[in-house]
Amino acid sequence: MAPDPAADGRRSLATRAVHAGRPEAQPGGPVVAPIVRSSTFHWAGPGDGAELLYSRYGNNPNQRSVAARIAALEGTESALALASGMAAISMTLLAVTRAGDHIVAGRQLYGATHTLLAGELPRRGITTTFVDPGDPGAWRAALTPRTRAVLIELPTNPTLRVFDIAPARDAARSAGAILAADMTFATPVNIRAAEHGVDAVIHSATKYLGGHSDLIAGAVAGPAELIGRITRMMKLYGGSIDPQTAWLLERGMRTLPVRMERHNRVALALAEWFTGLEGVRRVIHPGLPSHPDHDVAARMLDGCGGMLSIVLEGGGEAADRFCANLEVAAAAPSLGGVETLVSQPRHTSHADLSPAERSARGIPDGFVRISAGLEDVEDLKADFREALAAALSVPV
Ligand SMILES: *Cc1c(COP(=O)(O)O)cnc(C)c1O
Repeated sequence: MAPDPAADGRRSLATRAVHAGRPEAQPGGPVVAPIVRSSTFHWAGPGDGAELLYSRYGNNPNQRSVAARIAALEGTESALALASGMAAISMTLLAVTRAGDHIVAGRQLYGATHTLLAGELPRRGITTTFVDPGDPGAWRAALTPRTRAVLIELPTNPTLRVFDIAPARDAARSAGAILAADMTFATPVNIRAAEHGVDAVIHSATKYLGGHSDLIAGAVAGPAELIGRITRMMKLYGGSIDPQTAWLLERGMRTLPVRMERHNRVALALAEWFTGLEGVRRVIHPGLPSHPDHDVAARMLDGCGGMLSIVLEGGGEAADRFCANLEVAAAAPSLGGVETLVSQPRHTSHADLSPAERSARGIPDGFVRISAGLEDVEDLKADFREALAAALSVPV
């Protein structure tokens, strides 16, 4: 692809989100890239110097243009779109490890990522030490001579912890390991992780990048050499993104900055509104001064994100009634869509843990995670007020 003036790092994020990866302007040409469904492409034979194009290789025009847009937003040399967030995470880790190698990861991780590290990779001889991501000394202490990757996730799910990236980065550097970061909750609008020394910036593009709860996709952004190694894994394991999904992801990413501005604003407004309400024991959002990482978040993030959590008096039963009585917000897992989504970790991501184990992780029964959508804030408050009244109406 020709160098893209719209991807120029001097242009603002909003401009890059709209234009990076767009088709070259030519008379009669489309402004929006067409969907190219062809799995294969004409090849003039050896000697023409052209790379073989095949959609499993990730070099279909739609796969390329969405990758260019991701790299432009993250400010990285290169990027790759994949079939899912889990494909992005697993291909990244497989690209940098072999049997006998070791990974250091923050303890608070997306459920499937934790299962991959704790249950699946050990079958291939790759082990992981889990550390408290908020303990700056823990990263370096967990390194071994075979550590090849340090993995962080930020803000964490569902307690929205935001910790300083520097200790994990310094530990990775000292071990010659890569620093990989799942930045799904933050998005490049709220933080460009590569500027903080993250080598592989990973997203479940299913969430905010796509933004409309209508696709499954993943992304990794980083230096071209590393993205090349991850692309090789993707070709072999077959986790390429479908061209139609790549096109849909790109269409969603054009509005990422404007959506995130509003997600950030709606979530903070709701967090402030929930604070002190009868029946609400705790409100968790990094933008609130009551959040343990409020200062780190204020320093590192441009926005505190579209996620918030509340803990209801009355435990799990109250939370069940709360979720069952919503009319505007939908009770569903996942996050990052235009619609407000509400879920309880005890039924979803943390269902395998006992109530005591969940409590120890700051997720007591009654914990409700909210992905703030783009609806009118007053309509959401009214919806939550009614659901809260229903949740409290039965004595517990
Ligand atoms: C959803 C999610 C994933 C997994 O993404 P998929 O697109 O469902 O594969 C990974 N990490 C985080 C933080 C997520 O929220």
